[in-house]
Amino acid sequence: MINDSHFEKKNFRSLIESDEIGNVEERLNVIDAFLNTEEHVTLEEMMQLLKDRGFDYETEFVRQCMNRWVSHGFAQKKLFEGQPPRYEHRHLGRHHDHLICTKCGRITEFWNEEMEMLQLRIATSHGFHMLQHKMEIYGLCSQCVSERAPLMPLAMAKSGERLIIADIMGGVQARDRLASMGLRKGDQLEVINNDGFGRLIVGHDTIRIALGRGMAQKIMVSLPNRKPDEVDI
Ligand SMILES: [Zn+2]
Ligand SMILES: [Zn+2]
Ligand SMILES: [Zn+2]
Repeated sequence: MINDSHFEKKNFRSLIESDEIGNVEERLNVIDAFLNTEEHVTLEEMMQLLKDRGFDYETEFVRQCMNRWVSHGFAQKKLFEGQPPRYEHRHLGRHHDHLICTKCGRITEFWNEEMEMLQLRIATSHGFHMLQHKMEIYGLCSQCVSERAPLMPLAMAKSGERLIIADIMGGVQARDRLASMGLRKGDQLEVINNDGFGRLIVGHDTIRIALGRGMAQKIMVSLPNRKPDEVDI
């Protein structure tokens, strides 16, 4: 990797010298900080990495450097849902996909041959000439799952989560009210929208239900117990 980055810096230097844009050494300092982290970094994180190295550059200068780095094929700009743009090192000829934790933001990379071949087969079967693809899986990382309380009120769930009604607090009245909407203990719900303030929209079977926050506090939910070979999608 060290040799790789040494070679890439030389490659980049000759490209920016031919661009004749000046500040070559400063630009190389930005690139050096970036190459040293094999992470998916935001512009803000880049600014911090540079500060840690004693460089105090203008944000706009660093943004331009990163964009040039992208346009010359050394980095890729990623737009993961719910996150600011991130830059990642682009290794020519090497591809990977991502798992994105919607709780802590952690990004995990993976590559799966079967998945790659399947996508190519799907495209080809449609007479489609595939050039590239993005595979992003959103959910909770293993650490966030392990730190999560086994039971929580539905009101705390995030949009997009699929959960099981484990218990209904608030006595017979609340249970009857929910039963009249078709919701019972053991049912699976999909949280369609929870903005943290108003009503929640949940999907149950084929219907969408609006629940007040008070009611959503009374519904205790848990994650479905899923093993990799019995996941329903
Ligand atoms: Zn892929
Ligand atoms: Zn996480
Ligand atoms: Zn990546």
